[in-house]
Amino acid sequence: MPVSAAIRDALAQVVEPQLVRPLGDLGFLGAVDEGPSGLRVELVLPILAWPTLNDLTARLQAVSPGAEVITRTMNDEERLALRHFLRGAMAAPAGPGHHDHGGDPAPKFLDKLSKTRVLGISSGKGGVGKSSVTVNLAIALAALGYDVGVLDADVYGFSLPKMLGASHDPIILGDTVIPTLVHGVRCLSMGYFVPDEQPVIWRGPMLHKAIEQLVTEAWWDEPDFLLIDMPPGTGDVALTLSEVLPRIEMYVVTTPQAAAQRVAQRSAYAARKLKLAVRGVIENMSWFTGDDGKRYEIFGAGGGERLASELGITLLGQIPLDTHLREGGDEGLPVVVERPDSEVARAFVALAERVVAQGRARVYRQELKLV
Ligand code: ADP
Repeated sequence: MPVSAAIRDALAQVVEPQLVRPLGDLGFLGAVDEGPSGLRVELVLPILAWPTLNDLTARLQAVSPGAEVITRTMNDEERLALRHFLRGAMAAPAGPGHHDHGGDPAPKFLDKLSKTRVLGISSGKGGVGKSSVTVNLAIALAALGYDVGVLDADVYGFSLPKMLGASHDPIILGDTVIPTLVHGVRCLSMGYFVPDEQPVIWRGPMLHKAIEQLVTEAWWDEPDFLLIDMPPGTGDVALTLSEVLPRIEMYVVTTPQAAAQRVAQRSAYAARKLKLAVRGVIENMSWFTGDDGKRYEIFGAGGGERLASELGITLLGQIPLDTHLREGGDEGLPVVVERPDSEVARAFVALAERVVAQGRARVYRQELKLV
């Protein structure tokens, strides 16, 4: 027996946690029937192993206690409808003078008036902890209540999904990719789209296309922050990002060592040549706090401060060495989630607060130019 419109409407309003839209809008709510043993709600999902199924079931049962939730997979038509809905929801509204060229409009987070801040996390060389900083900073920002996405663009070694502990691959709806929601952060790695055994030689145009697609054709919605784990050095990715995301703010990760600081400086200058805003230095592996409470400066001291003053920007944070950070990275249990009270987790939260406090980069507005 069909149920009243009021019950159906209440269920249709339930928000899907990964896509952050009501079930009714997504086409996820199927038949709702009143059977002999109570309410039966059918969920229509893009794939049967939909990652938030348990959470969704709980949300439906909060609206309709005791409801039985059954599932079925979308057919091609329903999947296509979902893809169109998502593309429409993430698109910038067509402005005056907009002409439909048949293609999908650009995502609204790329618009210069969007609230989204894109943070490029870079380093001069590998091994300084850039990916660890990206993951833990992203989670710290999410813990402060922001909507956060992370894109793994470090083509020399994709490590983000493993460090975050992402348990499933992104879901692909035709040409639209849905990032994986993990620890409150939406994550996508270019590594997912590279066959395992095939060594990939990232050449300019191919790299450009791959990054462009993962920026413009993934369901990022309009996050407060999109963090990009960039490959170390001064290469092609920065060039591509400067074209695809001209508003990207660059943050340089370095260690206290003088040698590390010099290579970091080179990559910061390269970014400036591309007219990217270099907004802050993050020093990692700053010290190790022993059981005696003393700080041991294993990699020396002062590299972050010197780099910041040479670039005329701020040293935004110093992250101590902590074996739990490394173990957490290896096991997919980020230290900010697992040990929120540790010194290192607090350092990441303080870093996140400073990134928030410094606000977006000043937008250069042509129309305000004084001649
Ligand atoms: P990058 O992205 O710069 O190559 P990673 O984030 O992969 O560097 O870090 C390199 C290694 O150093 C990893 O094993 C990581 O767990 C470890 N590491 C990074 N930062 C710290 C830290 N503050 N304390 C302990 N280990 C760290």
